[in-house]
Amino acid sequence: MTDSAYSWDALAQSISADALHFARDPDSPPLDDGESDLPDAGKREGNEARRFRQLTKEVIAKGLDAVGKPELALRMRNCCTKIYKHIHENGVRFTAHECGVPVCPDRERRDARRHAASVERRIMKLMAKHPGSQALMLTLTFGRAVPAHELKTAVGDLIRDFPKLMLTAAVKRAVLAWVRKVELARNPVSWLWIAHIHALLIVPAEYFWRERKFYIDQKKWAELWRKRRRLDYQPVVDVRVLRGVKAPMDAEGRKSLREAVKYDTKPSSLVIPRGGRPVMVGAGHKEPYDIGDGRGLQPHYHVPLRAVLDATKNRRILSMSQNLGADDDDVPELEFGEYPEDVEPEDARGPRDLGRFICTEVYVWRVRGLDADYFLVGRSFDEPQGRLAMPP
Ligand SMILES: [Zn+2]
Repeated sequence: MTDSAYSWDALAQSISADALHFARDPDSPPLDDGESDLPDAGKREGNEARRFRQLTKEVIAKGLDAVGKPELALRMRNCCTKIYKHIHENGVRFTAHECGVPVCPDRERRDARRHAASVERRIMKLMAKHPGSQALMLTLTFGRAVPAHELKTAVGDLIRDFPKLMLTAAVKRAVLAWVRKVELARNPVSWLWIAHIHALLIVPAEYFWRERKFYIDQKKWAELWRKRRRLDYQPVVDVRVLRGVKAPMDAEGRKSLREAVKYDTKPSSLVIPRGGRPVMVGAGHKEPYDIGDGRGLQPHYHVPLRAVLDATKNRRILSMSQNLGADDDDVPELEFGEYPEDVEPEDARGPRDLGRFICTEVYVWRVRGLDADYFLVGRSFDEPQGRLAMPP
């Protein structure tokens, strides 16, 4: 792809022009020029990953503007523009207003964390009831790589066909429970998308017993998936045992389960780093896409962004079998339109282990020319009430 339309200078200019003049309150309109109330720079917060995510939001927001979704762009520009760093004796935690927009890197990161924790809890509970049960990772591809304009249909087909596979007699007999997640990955050279499903399957101890004939090998999985997908060729299917994931689960098993259910989304499909700066894929080149204007397939900018938004809209990207409690209230569903306050302990210890509260530092996101970072603007020594409370 070419990035001529997206040189860093132009990007930096637009970042400073835009980001400085948006209010910090997620629901309020942008401030006018010269009305910015950002105070003068203090100490840098200095977290490179956080800084990169924040820069990423600005390039995605520009993309959202370009595809006619300015309300989402505004929310994303207001995302985490102010963070509270609660410093305790033994560690720190952060709270911030998040935008909840689907392609936001902070939302994706948090969803992945929450999903992993929730799936882990449910699976451990189920496996404890079935001594000797084990976990498999099954990866099912759509069948072929598809151009962006076919991605929505491909994801729809995957979501439609996966339950059919789980209801196949041989699978029903062999699988106690499942969790499935849809993943999308774009090939940067061919521009084609691989839509696939990662499914975590819990199988009983008998699955591996030769005489019970429950066992399904890779070839059989591929054949079953081919039939459900009604393909005339064998789709790529991978299945492997998650070693150590069994009841009772030890620390190593939990770790490998956590890795498996984390399902990191592939942010590189939409944003890539260029010289340490995020660049929006598709901002500098056109691809055929039907934007619903009655003109059918036409070349457009920002097609990867359009395709991901369309393919995931109103669809359950994460789903699980009923016996894992799919209808429970605590299924992590961060709906569009929420402005949650995140808790992010900097290490694995929970807030309980952080020790005595010392102070809260307040940082604001600001951009000056080519430079952008979080800067310290104030401290509060009043302990916030409750785990999620914002300080005064
Ligand atoms: Zn956000």
